[in-house]
Amino acid sequence: MHLKYIAFLYAKIKTMPDSLIKTLNTLEENSRLRAIKNIEKKDGKYIWVSGKKLLNLSSNNYLGLADNKEITERFLEETGGRYSFGSASARLLTGNLPVYNELEKLITEMFSGSQTATLLFNSGYHANVGIMSGIAGADDVIFSDKLNHASIIDGMQLSRGKFFRYKHNDMAALEELLIRERDNFKTAVIVSESVFSMDGDVADLVKLVELKDKYNCILVVDEAHAFGVFGQNGLGVAEELGLTGQIDLIMGTFGKAIGSVGAFATGDKALIGYLINKSRPFIFSTALPPVNVAFSKWVIENELPKTREKRQKMLELSQKFGSQSQIIPIMTGSSEKAAELYEKLFDAGYFALPINPPTVPEGASRLRLSLTTEITEKDLEDLCGIIG
Ligand code: PMP
Repeated sequence: MHLKYIAFLYAKIKTMPDSLIKTLNTLEENSRLRAIKNIEKKDGKYIWVSGKKLLNLSSNNYLGLADNKEITERFLEETGGRYSFGSASARLLTGNLPVYNELEKLITEMFSGSQTATLLFNSGYHANVGIMSGIAGADDVIFSDKLNHASIIDGMQLSRGKFFRYKHNDMAALEELLIRERDNFKTAVIVSESVFSMDGDVADLVKLVELKDKYNCILVVDEAHAFGVFGQNGLGVAEELGLTGQIDLIMGTFGKAIGSVGAFATGDKALIGYLINKSRPFIFSTALPPVNVAFSKWVIENELPKTREKRQKMLELSQKFGSQSQIIPIMTGSSEKAAELYEKLFDAGYFALPINPPTVPEGASRLRLSLTTEITEKDLEDLCGIIG
C-alpha cells in the first residue's frame, strides 16, 4: 500500500485530523501499517491470496476444524437446524438457553472439578478483559508476564488495581516482585499464558502454582493456544502437567483449535460467581450465537477425542523446528526484514504473516509460523532452505 493510497482513503474523511494521518503515514514508512488482506478462499491447509494457492502457516486452526466442509455438514445434519444464529440478549437478561449451561457443565466436568464452575465469554478478548478488570479492585495487584496477550494488558489497564509486568517466563524475577510488593496489597493475582501466542514457548506452570501458594495469590492461566492441543484430553498444558485442580482460573478459547468462536473461564465456584457479577464484558454484551455454542460443544464431545494422535504428531514436527508448541517464531528483528521474508515465502508458496510491534516488543519483529494437524513434514521441505 502506498502513501498516496492512504492519502486518498482518508482525504475523503474531511474531519480526519492531520495528526492521525501522520500516524498512519509513519506506520507505513516503518512497514507497520495494518491492512486487512483479501483472502479469496480457504480450503483445509491452503489459502488463496492474490490468485495464488499457498500453504497456510498463519492460522490458529490447529486441528483443521474451522471452515471444514465435512465437519460443518455433519454438525448441521446431526443438530438439524435446532440452534438459532442470534441470542438477542445478554445471558443475565433473556440471552440464556440450555445449550450455554450444557457447554459450561461439560467443561466443568472435563476439568473434573466438584468445587468448580465455568463461565462462557464471547471471545478470549472479552474473557481476559472481563477477568482482569473484574478481579482486581483498588487495593489489589496483578503480576503479569511481560509477553502476555494484549487482552490481558487491556484488562489490567481497565482494572482499578496496580499491575506489574515481570520479565518473560522468569520465575526468579516474579518471586522478587512478590517479595517486594505482595504485602502492600489485599488480593494479588498472577496471570500467564500457558503457550505464548507469539513465541510458542510454554510457561513454567509448576513454579507458578508453587509461587501462588507461597504468596497467597490467585493464579489465572490463559490456555488460548493450548486448549485443544495439549493434554491427554486436549484441555491444555495444565492438564498435561496434572495441575488443573491447582489453578484458580483457567481460560480457554473456542476460536482457535476448536474452530468455533467464544471462550470460557473455569475454576473456583466462588470466583466464577464473582465474575458473573463483576465482569463487564460478560454482563453488558449480547451472548454468543447459540449455533456456535452448540458447535463448540459438538466439537469438544465428538471431534476433539479423535485428535490425540494427530496432535502429538504436530507437536513432534514442531519440535524439529525447535519449538515447544505448534507455534514457531522466525525472528527477523526489524519489520523491514520480516516484510522481505514474508514476500520470499509468499513467492515460494507459503503464507506466513509478519508480526510487528506493538504486538511484539520493539526490535523483535518476526514471522509467526503455526502448524496444524493437516500440515506434513513434506509440506515444509523447502521452508528451511528459504528461511536459511
Ligand atoms: N489470549 C491469547 C493468548 C490469544 O492469543 C488470543 C487471540 N489471539 C486471545 C486471548 C483472544 O482470543 P479471541 O481471539 O477468542 O478473542
